[in-house]
Amino acid sequence: MDDIWDLVIVGGGPAGSAAALGAKRLRPDARVLLLDRADFPRDKACGDGIAAHGRDELALLGVPDLIADYRPTRRLSVVSPGGAHVSATVARPNHVVPRRVFDARLVDAARARGVEVRRHRVRGLATRDGHVVVDGTVTARAVVAADGANSTVRRLIGLPPSPDRHTAIAVRGYADVPAADDDVQFIAMQKEGWPAYAWSFPIGDGTANVGFGMLLPRLRAVGLPGREVLHGRLAELLPHLPARDLRAHHLPLSPGRPKPGAGRVLLAGDAAGLVNPLTGEGIYYALVSGRLAGEAAVRAPGDPLPAYRRALGKALGRHLRTTDVLARAAQSSGFIDAAIATAARREEVFELLVDVGLGAGTVPLPLAGAVVRRWLLDVARGGRT
Ligand SMILES: Cc1cc2nc3c(=O)[nH]c(=O)nc-3n(C[C@H](O)[C@H](O)[C@H](O)COP(=O)(O)OP(=O)(O)OC[C@H]3O[C@@H](n4cnc5c(N)ncnc54)[C@H](O)[C@@H]3O)c2cc1C
Repeated sequence: MDDIWDLVIVGGGPAGSAAALGAKRLRPDARVLLLDRADFPRDKACGDGIAAHGRDELALLGVPDLIADYRPTRRLSVVSPGGAHVSATVARPNHVVPRRVFDARLVDAARARGVEVRRHRVRGLATRDGHVVVDGTVTARAVVAADGANSTVRRLIGLPPSPDRHTAIAVRGYADVPAADDDVQFIAMQKEGWPAYAWSFPIGDGTANVGFGMLLPRLRAVGLPGREVLHGRLAELLPHLPARDLRAHHLPLSPGRPKPGAGRVLLAGDAAGLVNPLTGEGIYYALVSGRLAGEAAVRAPGDPLPAYRRALGKALGRHLRTTDVLARAAQSSGFIDAAIATAARREEVFELLVDVGLGAGTVPLPLAGAVVRRWLLDVARGGRT
């Protein structure tokens, strides 16, 4: 049996690596072990979009230049389900970095800080003498579960998986992108089966990550094989960008009040169900929650969960409650039409939507009022619902 590790992390995606880097930054002498069932580099179905908020987190983790060699994209163009359109320059650019590259760089950075990385698929957890024992052989003072949407650890500690109504499914592929579309991130929302949208996120090398996602219950309601629906809608919405290398995965959308773990096991990223329900963005939340979990694990090794819960609540609590309320309103596509139409006229609304959709933003009451007024006006005119 190994000696006792201060922290064992399950999963080497953004949440797991952030936990490793966060723990090491706070306590460089901490013994940290990162386990992943895959060797890196490895692929992960994702839109590969990294918002400016995610880059802020990379700086906090001590790797500010991790993706500096990738081209920033400033233009963002969104078409709402009812056809409202906004195209604008974001105040802070987004990046698109294939996860095969991004995740491997983060794992390498953790390794360079002294984190031990092993290929290992976790199957069992037990508690012994106040410690957590992983698969009978690895003993830890604390565990961060960063093992993604279908988290094994979450199940092992008795927490339920993301319910269907809070789960989306999305497919992504890669496509050659014409020069005219190469510097704009494009999102086309779809009324049929709403909430549903397709995206094209150019990488900067003549190709783009393209994809389509929708809520799981809406997909099931179509009554056709999921693959047929997802691939078909993607081709329909982005006919000029035929995609290759298609791959799909679940997205556990935030229900507003996440359950951050049990005992000495802290959940982070998708394992905690932290994907933004308005946009499907999860990397930023994985980085934030991973860092906070790693810090709590080495700061309060005897009882890390209360420290983690507090830190998570402070960083994301209001935001998560905001997106929960907005996601309920957004079940009506007319609400999103009104929001996009308002954003097209008012730059500060556009920026706020970006902040709420990709970062930790919240909505001031007067603004929520302006969108609701517009929405009601549309409804009164017999337009959008
Ligand atoms: C199609 C699609 C498009 C998306 N687009 C975007 C986007 O553009 N921008 C964005 O911000 N978010 C996007 N997301 C969401 C984003 O991909 C996730 O939120 C993000 O990957 C969460 O990171 P994570 O570290 O929590 O989990 P993951 O990245 O899933 O990492 C989990 C890791 O755990 C490992 N693992 C799993 N089980 C075990 C086990 N039992 N033992 C050991 N290791 C294990 C896996 O191998 C994996 O490396 C998208 C998701 C999908 C499906």
